[in-house]
Amino acid sequence: MADLLALLDSVEMSPPLPGDEAAAAAATLDALGGGSVYPSSIVAQNGALYFLANLAGERRLGILARAGHLPAGFTGGDERVSLAGQELALRRCLPEHGNAVALRAALPFTAPRLLGLVPSFGSGDRLGLATPGHIRGVRGHACAPIFAQQSIREMIRTRRTPEQVLDDATWGVFQEGWRGGFGADADHLKTAADVDLCTAAGYTFYTIDPGEHVDNDADTDGTAALAAKVEALPWRELESSPRSLRAGYAGRTFSLEAGLSLTFSEEDFLRAAAKYGRAIAHTVGLYRRLVERLGAGAFELEMSVDETATPTSVAAHWFVASELMRLGVRWVSLAPRFSGRFEKGVDYIGDLGAFERELVQHAAVARQFGNYRLSLHSGSDKFSIYPLFARHTGGMMHLKTAGTSYLEALRALARVEPGLFRVVLALARERYLQDRASYHVSAELSRVSDPAGLRDSDLPALLDDFHARQVLHVTFGSVLTACDESGECHLRRAIYGALQQHEAEHYQALEAHMRRHVQAVGW
Ligand code: ZN
Repeated sequence: MADLLALLDSVEMSPPLPGDEAAAAAATLDALGGGSVYPSSIVAQNGALYFLANLAGERRLGILARAGHLPAGFTGGDERVSLAGQELALRRCLPEHGNAVALRAALPFTAPRLLGLVPSFGSGDRLGLATPGHIRGVRGHACAPIFAQQSIREMIRTRRTPEQVLDDATWGVFQEGWRGGFGADADHLKTAADVDLCTAAGYTFYTIDPGEHVDNDADTDGTAALAAKVEALPWRELESSPRSLRAGYAGRTFSLEAGLSLTFSEEDFLRAAAKYGRAIAHTVGLYRRLVERLGAGAFELEMSVDETATPTSVAAHWFVASELMRLGVRWVSLAPRFSGRFEKGVDYIGDLGAFERELVQHAAVARQFGNYRLSLHSGSDKFSIYPLFARHTGGMMHLKTAGTSYLEALRALARVEPGLFRVVLALARERYLQDRASYHVSAELSRVSDPAGLRDSDLPALLDDFHARQVLHVTFGSVLTACDESGECHLRRAIYGALQQHEAEHYQALEAHMRRHVQAVGW
């Protein structure tokens, strides 16, 4: 207890406590009532000791200080407690947005930050409970993590706001005492309204998705059609003209590293410009809006066209990078649409040799324009390409996974709450054919067993089955928003309740999943 009082008097932020000391401190704090304290969360600074407790599955932030010295900005209920004969003040706070904002200000390691040009791993968390498991999976591995990461589409489907997504990551980081820093990715932003929502919430990494402005037909159009499309591009926004843009590319050869070079024929130029010209203009517009709202250099940018129908050729990649650069855009990461199939929750499907030959050149283009990261979206479970990706990018890669953490939550449920898992699977089978529409998947419903015919002990193995994984993966929105007329979302509540009750199993499944990925990449 004397140790806890000494800790309380720290002015500088206290370093992470060794395991036994943390456990002893947590036990002392437990005795004050109000839940079971996460030992890793305990940290003191400026005469206040902060910790996170679990009270029957719910989080409570506790702040202990000498009477009259509780830090400002946190709302909660106060009581007087006695520790080793000393009277102290204890404030218990709900994990609300205002308290998350105050925590990020008081303890900067709980706030997202810029990551710089380093290898990075983005792990989306649809439920908002996964960050501790993600941290355990990446701890000790050489990649900068992005723990808050959701697209607007996923937020709508899970009924979460950008603030909630960020707050959940903050609480998870605090719970685990992760001091290594993390980014917050406002993923797949398509409009100015999307940008405004996420800048207000405090994201640090913005993924602009101009996919709706990519003209996929340009891959097969004839030259006359291409020329007409190029004429009709938004030239004012592109700050150029058909003639001057053409002069910059058509008939020119650009040398890449190691003897590689890229020659643009007239047709290559027309195809790249017709296909990506509008997407470039749209990206520039959203980038400038970000600069206006946040200031240049105060955020990191990714451009992604991964969700488009046709692959990004190496020439087109060069064209996009070179034009974004000319228009003043600065970015840290770019997600081309690679050839082959990047389906949700399963390994790469395609010609590995062809993929590798293309990757070598994409990586050379990225090095040419500032050594930004190549970003691999729908990146989970692509075990056959990680080694190639790590090698050819020289480590300058971003791996983005999102929905598979939801699958790991379901794996935990299949193990410990088979009844609930059966209900989820039954609904997923019912909704798959509608819900698959906006995702790249090829699972066949007929190959997913009816849970009625399975024993409980067979259920966890479904999470390793190609077809069941995809059916469960894309139906998360239907599952989490299945509500009755009164607005009661019974299934959502049951899933959250079960995962909170079986926290250890949930974290263990996530940790194993994340670790398989970082090890396969070689981080
Ligand atoms: Zn994506």
